[in-house]
Amino acid sequence: MSVQPTHNLSVEELDKQSVFHPFTALAQHMETGPRIMVSGEGVTLKDRQGREYIDALAGLWCVNIGYGRTEIAEAVDRQIRQLPYYHSFASMGTEPAAYVADRLKRMLPGDMGRVFFGLSGSDANDTQVKLVWYYNNLRGRPNKKKIIARKRGYHGVTVAAGSLTGLPVLHNAFDLPVDRILHTATPHYYWNAEPGMSEEEFSRSCAEELDALIEREGPDTVAAFIAEPVMGAGGVIVPPKGYFEEVQKVLRKHDVLLIADEVICGFGRLGRMFGSQVFDIEPDMVTIAKGITSGYVPLSASVVSEPMWQVIMEGSKELGVFGHGYTYTAHPVSCAAAVANLDIIEAEKLDQRAAETGRYMQELLRETFEGEPMIAEVRGVGLIAAVELVPDPAVKKPFDPSLKVAGRIAAKALDHGLITRALPNGDSLAFSPPLVISRDEIAQCVERLARSIAEIRDELTRDGVG
Ligand code: PMP
Repeated sequence: MSVQPTHNLSVEELDKQSVFHPFTALAQHMETGPRIMVSGEGVTLKDRQGREYIDALAGLWCVNIGYGRTEIAEAVDRQIRQLPYYHSFASMGTEPAAYVADRLKRMLPGDMGRVFFGLSGSDANDTQVKLVWYYNNLRGRPNKKKIIARKRGYHGVTVAAGSLTGLPVLHNAFDLPVDRILHTATPHYYWNAEPGMSEEEFSRSCAEELDALIEREGPDTVAAFIAEPVMGAGGVIVPPKGYFEEVQKVLRKHDVLLIADEVICGFGRLGRMFGSQVFDIEPDMVTIAKGITSGYVPLSASVVSEPMWQVIMEGSKELGVFGHGYTYTAHPVSCAAAVANLDIIEAEKLDQRAAETGRYMQELLRETFEGEPMIAEVRGVGLIAAVELVPDPAVKKPFDPSLKVAGRIAAKALDHGLITRALPNGDSLAFSPPLVISRDEIAQCVERLARSIAEIRDELTRDGVG
């Protein structure tokens, strides 16, 4: 460890010596150091060396309105000057919190009752787990507590949310998942359907697997099922035809609540305001984060249906104070940013814009990549997509993970001024750009990705892979 005074060190060195990075190959980071971003405008980011990148991932799937929107800066500035903080415990409140909650209730599909604010998707899903348990205790069903998520689903990293997430890297060595959290099949048609199965048949088989799991565990022990409309960080997996229809039949049969995790899909990403609207999902609870403030400041929400709210509210007469909440629940600065952000999304109809530019993006990705060597599939809807690679599409077998094919393509793309993301499990590259992206910028992203893929494909061919 250096004994130099820190002010003599470069930012890169300060970072290496002091920042504990999330989701980072830590030992490798000590060799390579960080890439420090300093500014952003629209869909473009600039780093400390002055290099520019098109951010085709909108930060972490969150900067829906793009970078540099001064309306948010002004709303935050105004709120900090007027009232930088006050809490919402013990019946206290602030104006922005009431405005955002009302707005969300009116935007969300279905009969939503109340909005509980948090600061991240993870804590919002932890709140959902606690609300499910609380609710079933109030309903006199103390044994109905298990929650089923899906392999490759992503719901966050805290103890309960990290347990819901169905990715081994979040469980290994962290002693997760905790008890009472189970995982069922990933509805990934390309990889998991039996040969010759139609999408509808595959959806039914996923629903049958869920049904069998609930029967095995005992329906009186299973409380809820959580799903992203389109699985994001676990692979951009679009549900096969009929999937949510079949799954919802099973859930209704067993009186199991449905939690829609709209953290990525919410606020326009799929071409409608919420992913639930695209797939006719009728959730009892909705988790939102990311796009609610476009990531400018932290805010999330756990929303419960009106019938659930009635039970919780009535139950509180017996139980007393509702014993859950954060110092920063309904933070007025975050809520003020959310109001300004929702103003932009609604005024600029970014959901409709995502539908239109999304159609273009999906077509261009398919035209460019489908049928090309080593391309397994292009999948996506609206402004979210993934391109997956395999050595030989005719054989449907993944690359040896030690080749790190997607990681190498993502690194190459960075050199070409494109931020994409290598997804876990197999070799997929994700696109989830700000919803304000233009057709021209999409075309640039696709061209840069194509160049990066071609370069890595050449390397692999040279090395005799594929
Ligand atoms: N749910 C989903 C669907 C997500 O994509 C994420 C984050 N990628 C989370 C929950 C967790 O959100 P956070 O990182 O804000 O805790």
